[in-house]
Amino acid sequence: AQDRVFNFAAGPATLPERVLLKAQSELYNWRGSGMSVMEMSHRGKDFLSIINKAESDLRALLGIPEGDYAVLFLQGGATTQFAALPLNLCKPDDQVDFVVTGSWGDKAFKEAQKFCKPNLIWSGKPDKYTKIPTFQDLEQSEHARYLHICANETIHGVEFKTYPTPRNGLLVADMSSNFCSKPVNVTKFGVIYAGAQKNVGPSGVTIVIIRKDLIGNAQEKTPVMLDYKIHADNNSLYNTPPCYGIYMCGLVFEDLLEQGGLEEVEKKNKHKADLLYKAIDESKGFYRCPVEKSVRSLMNVPFTLEKSELEVEFVKEAAKEKMLQLKGHRSVGGMRASIYNAMPLAGVEKLVAFMKDFQARHA
Ligand code: PMP
Repeated sequence: AQDRVFNFAAGPATLPERVLLKAQSELYNWRGSGMSVMEMSHRGKDFLSIINKAESDLRALLGIPEGDYAVLFLQGGATTQFAALPLNLCKPDDQVDFVVTGSWGDKAFKEAQKFCKPNLIWSGKPDKYTKIPTFQDLEQSEHARYLHICANETIHGVEFKTYPTPRNGLLVADMSSNFCSKPVNVTKFGVIYAGAQKNVGPSGVTIVIIRKDLIGNAQEKTPVMLDYKIHADNNSLYNTPPCYGIYMCGLVFEDLLEQGGLEEVEKKNKHKADLLYKAIDESKGFYRCPVEKSVRSLMNVPFTLEKSELEVEFVKEAAKEKMLQLKGHRSVGGMRASIYNAMPLAGVEKLVAFMKDFQARHA
């Protein structure tokens, strides 16, 4: 629609237009039920059909093995999982390894200190979070219960392109900002978790994909709302779930399947990211992306202007042309274009054209 902007926000982020229009058409009276999804009992057959389809579509998208992995639709954001993971997977004295490649991984590491004994086996902080290490060269703790990584650092724009295999095989990944942006071999992971509000829906839904044998050993003090066993045993319906958010995620999963699945989605994402990084790299230093080329994120593209005094003007002029939320995170400054699945190619093309024009006028 004409009145929509290109929203480059990091999350909550842009959603597919088709999904929004479908939700609009079903808002007032969901499929003849006489009510909206927001008003339905979470235990009624209509909502059960919604949550079950969302789960089975997500399983189809990511190839999640039915027998071995549980899919949970939770609340509290990815931030809540920073505590839930050690509470469920560790005794208080257990060690856990962290490879920290940005500020989200660092937050997870700090929260884990309350519930287990995390070791920071690598940090990208001295390089301002622009790199990812070669895992084979790192020393893992001998008895680490699991290894935690953040698959895509939303603020710094650093993304794992291959995943490490820790000694005991238990890899835990925060995929909040690249969830469903490309195919993933789920069986490489003990737990994958993600807040929905970047790639797959509105805020308020957190998805946890967990190997079933890891469920059921939570520390005694674990609040019921953080205990994976409670949620797994009750199919995410122990208490009232974020019903409307789950419905929206379901519409997004359906849309991703209709696009041909995650291989197709990844192709589109690569094409969009290539266009943008190419514009930055070919600007003769007018724009710069600090991230090492091999680990640049396909989702969040941070960049600075050589003449940093022009950054305010850049954001202002872009906004006038209906390209919004391009300002970088307050902790790093500069610019950031988040180009999740739902950012149309036209949005990236328009941004690239604007960048070239802005450079021509200000170089
Ligand atoms: N991890 C990553 C990678 C994120 O990008 C974010 C949110 N920006 C979080 C965790 C925190 O998520 P939430 O706000 O859903 O708690």
